[in-house]
Amino acid sequence: MKIADILRESRKPFPSIEIVPPLKGMSREELISNIEPFMEFSPKYINVTCHRDEYEYVPNPDGSFSRKTVQNRISAVTVAGLIMSHFKVEAVPHIICAGATVGDIERELDNLYYMGIENVLALRGDCLASEKRFSPTPGGYRYADELVSGIRNYRREETGRHFSIGVGGYPEKHFEAPNIETDILNLKRKVDAGADYVITQMFFDNKVYYDFVDRCRKAGIDVPIIPGLKPLSTARQVHILPEAFSIDIPLELSTAMEEAGADREAAYRTGTEWCRKQCEDLLDHGVPAVHFYSMGKAANVAEILRTCF
Ligand code: FAD
Repeated sequence: MKIADILRESRKPFPSIEIVPPLKGMSREELISNIEPFMEFSPKYINVTCHRDEYEYVPNPDGSFSRKTVQNRISAVTVAGLIMSHFKVEAVPHIICAGATVGDIERELDNLYYMGIENVLALRGDCLASEKRFSPTPGGYRYADELVSGIRNYRREETGRHFSIGVGGYPEKHFEAPNIETDILNLKRKVDAGADYVITQMFFDNKVYYDFVDRCRKAGIDVPIIPGLKPLSTARQVHILPEAFSIDIPLELSTAMEEAGADREAAYRTGTEWCRKQCEDLLDHGVPAVHFYSMGKAANVAEILRTCF
């Protein structure tokens, strides 16, 4: 079933869960047992993140170097296939422009189409660890709105709108955008290109989300905007997440996490409780769904889902 239809038909808000594909080497059984805890909540779908290949340069006998692709993780499409076949749950693999040509993306859409996958989250992706800023792959898409158009046009004559497409939105502004107004205009480009809904970057202050939704509505973005939450579980994340995702952590939360410090249980409880309160408040405000970035940790997300849904 398409996420656009799930959002339209659902009479009450539901949890949306995002998982990260495992590193290569994990057994199929272990992967299944990592996803299993979420089944308690009968998820309507599960998002699977997609990770850009990195490169390493290996020396040749003649002194020159060859570029070797390093793929550390199982692909999003493979994990999506497992979710659909084993758990009979819809999967939403993420697709990124980064590192792919238009032809590569078309082949990926072919794989999804023949696997019976009807949902994707379309993203630009980021630069390589060795680069300073994002540059599109030659023959690839530059921005996510171009990717959305490409997906919308996929087999259009034969299948019509085969894919339901989600895109990313940034309540605290994407780090490259000069200001929030420009970033929202660029978000509108993605919706105008055919995106059915938006999932936001994680945020820790609900006011930031409510303001963002207001601004989006004023800019003419009328699709569902699903808030994204991440429960903090360690004091270290107070420093790691702002750097990795260009987001703010409110003083009250960062102080409480740092006070918990080395007491892992106290830090875990503080982060989980903050996220639970955020979730309850969002549900009181009538959001259509709440998206959880599990990032390899199921227990705290499961605990919040058990109390809130
Ligand atoms: P875009 O929408 O293309 O925006 C990128 C920047 O360009 C913004 O500053 C925007 O304002 C600007 N811009 C956009 N369109 C135009 C235009 N037409 N002209 C001029 N400027 C423009 N990354 C992964 O690698 N894998 C994942 O699985 C993944 N999942 C994610 C899930 C969610 C819900 C979110 C919010 C992000 C996710 N990301 C993922 C991160 C994402 O790839 C990065 O944040 C990336 O830097 C931007 O992606 P985007 O699709 O928002 O880009």
